Amino acid sequence: MKTEVLEPTPENIRHAAEVLRAGGLVAFPTETVYGLGANALDDNAVRKIFQAKGRPETNPLIVHVSGYEMASRLGDVPKGITDKFWPGPLTLVVKRSRSVPDSVTAGGDTVGLRCPAHPVAMALLESAGVPIAAPSANRSTGVSPVTAQHVLEDLDGKVEIILDGGQCPKGIESTVLDLTSSPPSILRPGSVLASDIEGVLGETGIGQVAGVPKSPGQGHKHYAPRTRIHLSEGDGRKLVESLVETGHKVGWMPIGLHEMEGAETISMPADPTEYAAKLYVALRKLDKLGLDAVVIEKPPLEPAWTAVLDRLNRASSFD
Ligand code: AMP
Ligand code: MG
Repeated sequence: MKTEVLEPTPENIRHAAEVLRAGGLVAFPTETVYGLGANALDDNAVRKIFQAKGRPETNPLIVHVSGYEMASRLGDVPKGITDKFWPGPLTLVVKRSRSVPDSVTAGGDTVGLRCPAHPVAMALLESAGVPIAAPSANRSTGVSPVTAQHVLEDLDGKVEIILDGGQCPKGIESTVLDLTSSPPSILRPGSVLASDIEGVLGETGIGQVAGVPKSPGQGHKHYAPRTRIHLSEGDGRKLVESLVETGHKVGWMPIGLHEMEGAETISMPADPTEYAAKLYVALRKLDKLGLDAVVIEKPPLEPAWTAVLDRLNRASSFD
C-alpha cells in the first residue's frame, strides 16, 4: 500500500473520510498525539489497526466522537462531565452499547470515548459521520507520534492516508477516566488532572484495576524508545559524566540549560505543559542517533507532573 501524506484541505479531508467509510486506515492529528483511525463500527477496518500497529488484540481502542450525541449512541455517557471537558484530552470509559464491535473493546463490556479538540480531527469526524476508533499512530509499545513525519517513520505502507496537521499541541496522550468503577478511577494520567475532575465528580480516586489490566502499560514497558533510558534521581550529570568517560554515546535531557561536554543535550522546559509538548519530539530525536543510553533528569514529584512522570517511568522500564 502506498501511504499518502496530505495537507488537511477540505477536499483532502473529504477524501480521507471516504477512505474511512470504505474500511481504510487514516492517521490524523489530535490535540494529544496522532491517531491511527478506522471506522469504529466496521469490525474488519478495526482489525487493520491492530495489524498495522502490531498491537495485542487484548488492548482496547479509544473511540473518537464528534460530541455527546454520537457518544451516547455508543455508551452510557453522563452529560455533565462531557459538557465540562469535551472537546478535550479526557477519555471516558463507560458501559458500552451493542453497536460497538468486540474488536474495539477487546471483548469487554466497556468502551473508551473521547471528543478531540483539534480542527482536523473534528472536520474528519464530521465529514465521515461515523465514530473513529484510533489508538496512537505508532508501532505498539513505542513512542507516540506528534508529527506526520513520526507517523510515516512508523507506519509507512500500512496506512492509506496521513493528514498532516503539524505538531500536536499537547504532545501527550489523553487522561483515561474509568466511570464504571466506584469511585471513578484514572487509568492513565494526562493533561486533565485528577484535581480538575474531582471538582466535577465530587469524588475521584486513582484506582488500580486487578486482573486483566483495564489499561496497558501500568508498570510495564510502554511509550518507550529503543535506546536505554535512565531516569536520574537527583543530579543526573554525574551519571552522564561517568557514561561519557567509559566511552558510551550518551543523550542528556536536563530541565533547563545544562549542556554537558560529550553528550547530546536536549534542554527541556521547566513548565510541565511545555515539557509534555516537547517530550516525544525529544525522545524520538535522540532515539535516531544510535546512542548507548539517554539520561533524563527526573521532574519534581508534583501533581502537575503526574502524566510526564508516568510516561518517563514507563519509557525507562525494562520489562
Ligand atoms: P492508545 O493506544 O495510545 O490510544 O491508548 C489507549 C488507551 O485507552 C489504552 O491505555 C487503553 O487501554 C485505554 N482504553 C481504551 N478503551 C478502554 C476500555 N474500554 N477500558 C479501559 N481502558 C481503555
Ligand atoms: Mg499508544
